[in-house]
Amino acid sequence: MTSIANQIPIAEGLFTWPSNDPRLLGSKCNNCGVVTFPAQAGCPACCGEDTANIEMERRGTLWTWTIQGFLPNRPPYDGPETAETFKPFAVGYIELPNQVRVQSRIKCDDLDQLKIGMEMDLVVEKYVERDGKDIIAYFFEPAGQR
Ligand SMILES: [Zn+2]
Repeated sequence: MTSIANQIPIAEGLFTWPSNDPRLLGSKCNNCGVVTFPAQAGCPACCGEDTANIEMERRGTLWTWTIQGFLPNRPPYDGPETAETFKPFAVGYIELPNQVRVQSRIKCDDLDQLKIGMEMDLVVEKYVERDGKDIIAYFFEPAGQR
């Protein structure tokens, strides 16, 4: 584990960091209650401009997913793999209770264990190293995997 000073979030405002209990940061409309992720100043449902930033639930359920079976074009893809080290990975939507579905890369050693509706937990950790810094991103993984 490298020091916090050497860790940079992949984007500002996506999640609380540094934190021992990181949360995704969304927004909730004070007019109609719609939740968005990432946070937005305006509501996409009622066009209201009265939103409040909220910390999202860290446990949700797998709504659906697919397997990325080949190394995506780079750019825009900036993952750590090479053609030699690439392994298929899952990407999907995690439904956060009473909030919103969040698109996420899914960390799972055994892709055959993924099931619609299974509980998934947020993890925030190193995604790739760039210029000697660890770029920190969010993922979801099957609950209780670690
Ligand atoms: Zn609204």
